[in-house]
Amino acid sequence: MTISIAWLRRNLRTTDNRVLAYAMQHSDIVIPVYVWDTYRPLNRCPNRLSFIVESVEALGKDFEELGLPLVMRRGHVHKEIARLANEVNATTVIADRNYEPYEIERDEKTAQALSDVGATLTLVKENVLFESVEVRTKEGKPYTVFTPFKKAVWERVTSEAEEVIGPKRGTYTSYRSTKSYESHTPPDLGMLDQSKFSSNRIQHGGSVAAHTRWEAFKNAGLSRYKQRRDILSDDFGTSQLSPHIKFGTISIRTLAREALELAQQPDFNEGATTFISELLWREFYYNILASFPHVEGSNFQPIYDGLRWEQNEAHLEAWKLGRTGVPVVDAAMRQLLDTGWMHNRARMIVASFLTKDLLINWQEGELHFMWWLTDGDQAQNNGGWQWSASTGTDAQPYYRIFNPYLQSKKFDPEGEYIKRYVPELRSLPTKYIHEPHLMTPLEQSQYGCMLGEDYPLPIVDHSVQREKARAMFEHVRTRT
Ligand code: FAD
Repeated sequence: MTISIAWLRRNLRTTDNRVLAYAMQHSDIVIPVYVWDTYRPLNRCPNRLSFIVESVEALGKDFEELGLPLVMRRGHVHKEIARLANEVNATTVIADRNYEPYEIERDEKTAQALSDVGATLTLVKENVLFESVEVRTKEGKPYTVFTPFKKAVWERVTSEAEEVIGPKRGTYTSYRSTKSYESHTPPDLGMLDQSKFSSNRIQHGGSVAAHTRWEAFKNAGLSRYKQRRDILSDDFGTSQLSPHIKFGTISIRTLAREALELAQQPDFNEGATTFISELLWREFYYNILASFPHVEGSNFQPIYDGLRWEQNEAHLEAWKLGRTGVPVVDAAMRQLLDTGWMHNRARMIVASFLTKDLLINWQEGELHFMWWLTDGDQAQNNGGWQWSASTGTDAQPYYRIFNPYLQSKKFDPEGEYIKRYVPELRSLPTKYIHEPHLMTPLEQSQYGCMLGEDYPLPIVDHSVQREKARAMFEHVRTRT
């Protein structure tokens, strides 16, 4: 009898799961496990941790229905995995390959700990369509520009998105039927800083939640995704599936495959094709992190290491709290605190505002996002921040600077999004919703919103800051 452990990390589901399929093919008994890595500070981010707890609990029920109980462990990951392998006499541990430097080091330590107990670690491609080694230029180098990357992989999406047949009830022998083992409870969410939980978190964990949202989005959003994906107030403008994609409560293959199928229908063609293209941005940024791990903690383009960012705590705090006096920025930052998610267009607007209007280092924004986003993901977050800060691969050119007021008028024309998250401005007419600072004192009192009292005046002047940002970039460019 060969016994293997299926270690689930970013694939918290029982269907279309390569780790489970591989484990089933190569062993007689499969023991699924989830380990709470309580030693990595970022894993204690309340929104993400709550989402994982919900997902793992749902996963446990799904495994229970398959007659295959899920083991849960908590602590030093490599030690717990090796301890379990030793306890159950497993010869192999199979897991999804991850690409963050921390995760790579964790897996190296785990492989070592396993070899000490006579077992091996097998990593399989699971939560991406393409791994960086599979997508190379003619010269054998990683792609650093999105469009050629997309061209190189586009035709291969269909074959990579093929379904993986998962476990069926009754096809397993449950290890529990022969021997018992220790299982821990999830971490106590009550022990976390309660002020860091989003009270209206919109995404909840588990495969059922993921598939329900995907079905709803296919019905109500996908066909018009190309036209509506930038409209900030549209709840079906985008899928809002990002945490599910990150933690694999829905398979990336399922999404790509079904979107490809729908793209065959004229009504869905544009929307579904654009959606697949967005999924490929995610692939691109995993490719970047895997190939250029130095982006963790520094600029992709070293020339920008010399940028003289400003250190203004009051401005940083105003940005974090959504009190900058620029309504669209404030709405977006409050959406993040309130819901644990932020619209992609809003992420670009606030990232540009932090780096090009407040001239604050993108790493401050990256960290704040990682604490609050339920979908917080090192590769995607770093890629998005470095794109916005103009320091990354294929980045927004430094001289093209978002005007937050124009962005607001274009992507929230009636101010619906602003009014949802900035209640102080609800009584303002559309004419002033994007730029309340243009109101006269009489108008302020007429609309019941006194600037400087009820709502802040803009903390900076965009036209002045834009020039300072350009000068800051040009300074380092001319020096080299
Ligand atoms: P949809 O529009 O429905 O897209 C479907 C999926 O495609 C997304 O869930 C995501 O997996 C992928 N995707 C879409 N747009 C992008 C993009 N621009 N870059 C990479 N992948 C994309 N995404 C994260 O998952 N985690 C992060 O931590 C993260 N941080 C970001 C920080 C900044 C500054 C910026 C500008 C973007 C960041 N993104 C991040 C990318 C993007 O904003 C989110 O993936 C998207 O808003 C999620 O919403 P959705 O699921 O409704 O997206």
